[in-house]
Amino acid sequence: MTQSNKPIVLRLAAPVPLRRPFDYLAPEDLSPELLRPGIRLRVPFGSREITAVLMQTVDESSVDEKQLRAANSVLDDEPLLGPSIMALCSWAADYYQHPVGEVFSAALPKTLRDGKGLSETHWRLTVRGKGLPEGALSRAPSQAKALALLQNGEQAPASLSEAGVSSAVLRELASKELIERCRGTTKAPNPGLKESGPTLGEEQAQALAAVTLGEFSVHLLQGVTGSGKTEVYLRLIAACLERGDQALVLIPEIGLTPQTVERFEARFKTPVAVLHSGMADGQRFAAWQAAQCGSAGIVMGTRSAIFTPLARPGLIVVDEEHDGSYKQQDGFRYSARDVAVKRAQLEACPVILGSATPSLESLENARRGRYQHHFLRGRQGGGELPMLQTLDLRGLHLNAGISDYLLAAIRDTVETQGRQALLFLNRRGFAPTLQCHDCGWVAGCDHCDARLTVHLRKRCLRCHHCAAQRALPPQCPDCGGRSLLTHGLGTEQTEEFLNTVLRCPVHRVDSDAMRGVDAMQSLLEVAQGEEPCVILGTQMLTKGHHFPAVQLVGVIDADALLYSADFRGEERMAQLVVQVAGRAGREASGGKVLIQTHYPDDPLFESLRDGHFEAITTSLLEKRRSSGLPPFGQLMLLRSDARDERDGEAFLRAVQREAQQYLPKDCQLIGPLPSAMPRRAGRFRWQLWCIAASRRSALAAAHLLVDRAETLKKPRELSWFIDIDPSDV
Ligand code: ADP
Ligand code: ZN
Ligand code: ZN
Repeated sequence: MTQSNKPIVLRLAAPVPLRRPFDYLAPEDLSPELLRPGIRLRVPFGSREITAVLMQTVDESSVDEKQLRAANSVLDDEPLLGPSIMALCSWAADYYQHPVGEVFSAALPKTLRDGKGLSETHWRLTVRGKGLPEGALSRAPSQAKALALLQNGEQAPASLSEAGVSSAVLRELASKELIERCRGTTKAPNPGLKESGPTLGEEQAQALAAVTLGEFSVHLLQGVTGSGKTEVYLRLIAACLERGDQALVLIPEIGLTPQTVERFEARFKTPVAVLHSGMADGQRFAAWQAAQCGSAGIVMGTRSAIFTPLARPGLIVVDEEHDGSYKQQDGFRYSARDVAVKRAQLEACPVILGSATPSLESLENARRGRYQHHFLRGRQGGGELPMLQTLDLRGLHLNAGISDYLLAAIRDTVETQGRQALLFLNRRGFAPTLQCHDCGWVAGCDHCDARLTVHLRKRCLRCHHCAAQRALPPQCPDCGGRSLLTHGLGTEQTEEFLNTVLRCPVHRVDSDAMRGVDAMQSLLEVAQGEEPCVILGTQMLTKGHHFPAVQLVGVIDADALLYSADFRGEERMAQLVVQVAGRAGREASGGKVLIQTHYPDDPLFESLRDGHFEAITTSLLEKRRSSGLPPFGQLMLLRSDARDERDGEAFLRAVQREAQQYLPKDCQLIGPLPSAMPRRAGRFRWQLWCIAASRRSALAAAHLLVDRAETLKKPRELSWFIDIDPSDV
């Protein structure tokens, strides 16, 4: 008997919430060479047709082949995703235990996920254009120039306009059928510099010299704001472009402003492709394509940009690597910083993690020698580091949270010296609590275990944990009493107070006041304008922005930062204080930081006062070591979310019971425990902790927990997910 021709089985990543690939048969009459991993296919799925990515072809399916359906069509003649991105997505799906199809979706812009093709973005000569005799366009010099440029091959519109060719000229040539649009296949970016940077300082030069392009290594670049980290990135990028490679730069959400992009554009001739979640689909697609075809030498973006394919990846930079916005908190819960390190390994290129306040995870990796650690200890331009001082609040009179001493310092800064003061208060609204003075009623959220925050400006009560909002009641809903008190502090209140006592403008920077990119933009203009003023804001202030005229930084309520249910509370507090402090007197000397606290003797403040961020991290690492928490143990949480108060606990307990006996020996299950806020948006939340002593057992435990959770019967409206390396517990 002759062996029958075995059909080719396609293993696909389909955008559905199931943790497995799907097998299909290849479309009939298709040459097998076209079936390369990374192409997209249209396949029937139920009664729909969906777009899926080919992961691999296999000889035999794990499913009965008679049941396999055939793919309808192939969409790409070339893979959209190269081998390293394919490997990265598969790794991430496994490591984060997330449905593989949804992970692959993160690597494609919506336009391509929807099944559309790559667009023709570039220009090239037509056959007619190529055959044009020399001197034919001598009377139209700009057209002749464009043709001359295109003789060297296709060009991106950006590089043509860079060379002085207007789009009108291109339209004219196109109407003469001398040039036409084509799909970009550029591979090497333009390495040219528009301006050369300053001469590097010794530490900068050392850091630069330690990075070898073309091979994998991880570097932790630690230096305060203004110490010249970005300059090191710029030099590395220049060297990377010089080799014909591209650089990928990740920036925290709030750090990605037009100024940041401009600084890179001012240095390099190559186009900078920018990718972030707030972009329109079309823009995002164009930037993705410029990255994928290699026409953009620099690709810059927030978290999700880490999955953007590059034609010639040569360098990855993660700026402010400690920043919380690198962790995705819903759906596919990954850490872009950690994915960046994995990606650099797969692409065989260096990755630079930069921060003034590195995460304990990265510091521990540096201590173990896995990451090379470089320090930039000074500030560029000789600006001194601000002096840190704690202000003992015990017994002091406070106005909207501000002591007389801090107020005097603010007055001195803005009114006497004509400089700017920056105040940090991590709570927006007017006050976090509204209470009835007659009966004690407190305004709580109906859907969460949380109080409602008073927003006086909008005359409403808002829950900062769900979307609940209602009008400010004129009287107590319980007893009808008319004397309603507010407790606690918020930015609105402090702003109002400062406006009554200061003559200069007070700018409030929080998510209520800063809606949209424009608001941040105009604030940065105020900061650059150097007019005397007070800038008062929340966490938004701490992200890498440059405030040259700030002479005084006040931390209004440091105690609120100290008390957090999360084991990362102290680490965050130290990072925050050092980050806000970094905004002071970057160019001027003698900046000052005042930290208001009732606990000036807390060792944490003592170390901060002495400027010893390292002393703090060393002692925090010690604590983590003794409790086996990250970075010493690997943490994952199985979280449940249900309308019924008891369902989640019962479900997690059942998972725990079933998983316990198969668990690797160095893993420990803790819980189920209620979440820090047990009820949120009307749903009860529980979590089962799993701490593993090694990565290998962590992976095994994650598989086990997910497997058990998937097979166990659960109440219909209960949902669960696994959070690997959670940033919030
Ligand atoms: P960071 O990224 O650590 O905040 P930057 O790289 O932005 O620091 O440097 C702060 C300022 O100092 C910038 O204006 C930069 O142009 C300048 N700068 C950086 N390195 C040097 C250097 N070696 N010589 C002179 N100026 C420098
Ligand atoms: Zn009352
Ligand atoms: Zn709520």
